[in-house]
Amino acid sequence: MKGLVKFEKGQAGLEIREVPEPTPREGELKVKVLAAGICGSDIHAYHDARHLEMPVILGHEFVGQVAEVCGDVGDFKVGDWVTTLPACYGCGECEYCKDGRVTLCPQRRSIGSYDDGAMADYVIVPAKYSFKLPESAKTLQDKKIYALAEPFCCIVRGVYERIDVKPGDVAVVSGPGPMGMMTAQLLKSRGAYVIVSGLPMDQEKLDLVKSMGADETVTSFEELQEAVYRKNPYGAHITCDCVGIPVSLDNCIKIIAPNGVHLEIACWSGPVQADLNALFLKEANYVTTNSTAVSSWEIGMKLMAEGKVDLKPLMNMEVPLSEWKEGFEAAISKRKFKVVLLPDNTFDQE
Ligand SMILES: [Zn+2]
Ligand SMILES: [Zn+2]
Repeated sequence: MKGLVKFEKGQAGLEIREVPEPTPREGELKVKVLAAGICGSDIHAYHDARHLEMPVILGHEFVGQVAEVCGDVGDFKVGDWVTTLPACYGCGECEYCKDGRVTLCPQRRSIGSYDDGAMADYVIVPAKYSFKLPESAKTLQDKKIYALAEPFCCIVRGVYERIDVKPGDVAVVSGPGPMGMMTAQLLKSRGAYVIVSGLPMDQEKLDLVKSMGADETVTSFEELQEAVYRKNPYGAHITCDCVGIPVSLDNCIKIIAPNGVHLEIACWSGPVQADLNALFLKEANYVTTNSTAVSSWEIGMKLMAEGKVDLKPLMNMEVPLSEWKEGFEAAISKRKFKVVLLPDNTFDQE
């Protein structure tokens, strides 16, 4: 089969290769991949900015159809449509593995970085961490959206599990990229009043996030202050940084209300300077969210099935796996929100 293999450092160290088709072991599913999303971490892998066990097939955000099963796989069967929590190989014994926070296991191994990932015709995943698509996903196009389930469930982890949101809370989302758009929709689904902050050049994205349900959008800190203090004279109950640059965090810290909570959704590229004393004086909490737990998938898959969120506008580029470079370039330049690669597979329903 074909797979996008990172085999050595350097950008020339990533290419489509002919590799043997994988065989599932006890408790595993062999999944025929419909679509695999390009994540920031795949780009980091391309640029040698993250640790990998090479050679490895990239890709951990995917959706596909079960082609083969091995041993005890619960109620999964050939033909089922699935997506999977990527950090699916842990020790199985630590406190984190035991209660489903497997991504925090010190021995976690993810597909796409340690074990072969989904940018290939087939991927092997444990049934234990796989989730079936709902009946409501009927067409292949409906199913493709579930390639976004993993990044979406990362945001679910933050907004539903790491912080508390009360109806009417004033929430600020800094950064209208794909993460910000998902954050805004999830905060709305929990009843918050959502203000999304961006730059003047982000106007198109801000219009889109507003059409998805955000209450207000702003393009300067002055506008942000005006919008927040009009709703609550003490500031924002919740701030979410979806950018990962200091000025975005600064603005969140300035605008947060006493006893507010800041949710850090973006990843910092290194140590960062911030006015922690401002948080201290306000007794505000800095909360982080990274990756998912099994419980986040249960919530996220339900929200997607019930149509509580609309991720379709976010998946705005599909390219054949063979043209992966074009897809990676679009993702790197941020010309597209979410790019998915499509292996050359055919499915019965076509
Ligand atoms: Zn990802
Ligand atoms: Zn563990």
